[in-house]
Amino acid sequence: MVPYDKNWIDAAYQRTVRFTNLDPGTYSFQVKAANSDGVWSEEDVSLSFMIRRPWWQTSVAYVIYLISIGSLSYLLYRYLLNRQLEQQEAKRLKELDNVKTKLYTNISHEFRTPLTVISGMAEKIMENPKKWVMEGGNMIKRNSEYLLLLVNQILDLSKLESGALQIQYIQSDIVSFAQYLIQSFYTLAANKNIRIHFYAEEKEMILDFDPDKIQHIFTNLISNAIKYTPDGGDIYLDMRFGTRAEQQSSVHYFSSSSPLSPHASYLHIRIRDTGIGIPDDQLPQIFDRFYQVDDSSTRYGEGTGIGLALTKELVHMLDGEISVKSEVNKGTEFIVRLPVSNKAPQQTIVQDQVKAMVPARKTAREKKLKSTTPTPNSMPLALILEDNADVAKYLFSCLEDQYQLLWAKNGQEGIDMAFEIIPDIIISDVMMPEKDGFEVCQILKQDVRTSHIPIILLTAKADFESKLEGLRHGADAYLPKPFNPSELEVRLQKLIEIRRQMLQRYEQNPVGNIKIDNPEDEFLVTLNKIIQENLSDEHFGIQQLCLGIGMSRTQLHRKIKALTNKSTSLFIRSIKLNNARELLKTTQLNISEIAYSVGFSNPVYFTQVFTQEFGVPPSEMRK
Ligand code: ATP
Ligand code: MG
Repeated sequence: MVPYDKNWIDAAYQRTVRFTNLDPGTYSFQVKAANSDGVWSEEDVSLSFMIRRPWWQTSVAYVIYLISIGSLSYLLYRYLLNRQLEQQEAKRLKELDNVKTKLYTNISHEFRTPLTVISGMAEKIMENPKKWVMEGGNMIKRNSEYLLLLVNQILDLSKLESGALQIQYIQSDIVSFAQYLIQSFYTLAANKNIRIHFYAEEKEMILDFDPDKIQHIFTNLISNAIKYTPDGGDIYLDMRFGTRAEQQSSVHYFSSSSPLSPHASYLHIRIRDTGIGIPDDQLPQIFDRFYQVDDSSTRYGEGTGIGLALTKELVHMLDGEISVKSEVNKGTEFIVRLPVSNKAPQQTIVQDQVKAMVPARKTAREKKLKSTTPTPNSMPLALILEDNADVAKYLFSCLEDQYQLLWAKNGQEGIDMAFEIIPDIIISDVMMPEKDGFEVCQILKQDVRTSHIPIILLTAKADFESKLEGLRHGADAYLPKPFNPSELEVRLQKLIEIRRQMLQRYEQNPVGNIKIDNPEDEFLVTLNKIIQENLSDEHFGIQQLCLGIGMSRTQLHRKIKALTNKSTSLFIRSIKLNNARELLKTTQLNISEIAYSVGFSNPVYFTQVFTQEFGVPPSEMRK
């Protein structure tokens, strides 16, 4: 069987031979035979035949296999790709969503605050035009200007993105332009005791620039520098010519690059502050829209996080680049590099044309709000914690007829003041520097000195979650901005009233509840214990009690007064007298002995105050 087996097979006397498992192919079967005498045939007989491939091995089949494998893997690829795209899309949407949420929270906070002042002051003016028209008008103007600034910024950003913003170069002296701009920041800086130092390489630097864009860039960078630099810091601004390649050190993060050659002439504008700085890992994000390094409610300044995004876009538009270098708690340095040319029409800029859009409402800090010096026995004492001076002022105007008012500019200051003065009620903003309203609640509610003081949170964070959070931290009420002044008044009154009712039981029972169920009981029980331990000591008095409980005289006085409506000395006396009454009822000691044992050296005086307290003389009590 050729080609399966090329050797002859001797079939002996059989006439059959078997082949199994022949592969597909063409074969030639050859036979030789011999007769009975053993004579072999001269010619071989051969039979050719073919074994066909089974259908699944045919080339058509292979083609089909190939096609199906191909299309299958293509489908799989498509599927995976789609899934990846979907995931990316989902992630992108989520990010977009985050940005949007941030935008809404920021914007609503930034809008609500000035709106509170505007609508509130408008109402005040209508109520009493004579008294309020000047001051209210000013506040309204300032706050609406701020709103306008915000809206303009947002619009500018979207205009920039859609390419609708035009550049209008003029050729002029940028040094004097910058000086004019900086001048408009002096008041703002002076309020924070910040010095602005300006240095220009040459007295005059004539070049093409777009005043409007440069103004935006300067305003944003300088107001950031002022905003993020604590009191008493310095801001350095300098301008010089250089090339693009200069000053590129590895710490710089470049947000943009420009197509011009590294050796072309560039204007370098450097703005350096000695402020809070930006952590390294946050540097790449600060140019993003709505990004704020600290977006917690204790953040340093107000703002929406648009400033730098806008600045970056503008610098790009002018074919420049902006870079930043920063060290936490040391300071931040922004460098803007702009290509220099001298082709535009010449024009001189006069000071009047330059009006930097300094966030005006912040200058309100100039006028300090007079906190009243608390006097005893008059109107309740309310402490206002609010970082925005205009809102604080507005609150003062709403409440000054019924309360003695104190103002703290941030959470920490508020906490310190609360401990020191022990006010009757606290009105607090949520978003404040240092400590936010939630922390303030938590700290004050956990301290014996202040745990009894009702706190009302007044805030632009109007969402339900924030409200819950506020209540969870122990706030007694939560009022969203802009608020209705009468609602605020009613709330305050109610809170003070409720607290009075709650505390009435202490007036009758100054010893406090033995089964301690709140910090107030605990406080009174502790006081009682200290007094009991020194019962017979006639020299025991306010001073010793203060030492024992670890509070100052005023703190103790205000806390006891708030709880029991008694002065500290009356409080001590009434506890002593309560003890005397017990002794009268349960022992046989005579009145002088009892007087001595509760720390009265003069039995006659004892009888006198006892009668005052309980309406009956001690001798009667015994019967
Ligand atoms: P806006 O400018 O819109 O009122 P903003 O100042 O918070 O709000 P950007 O100007 O975009 O927003 O700045 C983004 C963030 O970068 C700021 O929130 C701040 O955390 C940080 N930042 C900007 N400049 C400085 C600086 N000079 N020092 C420290 N941090 C800064
Ligand atoms: Mg800013």
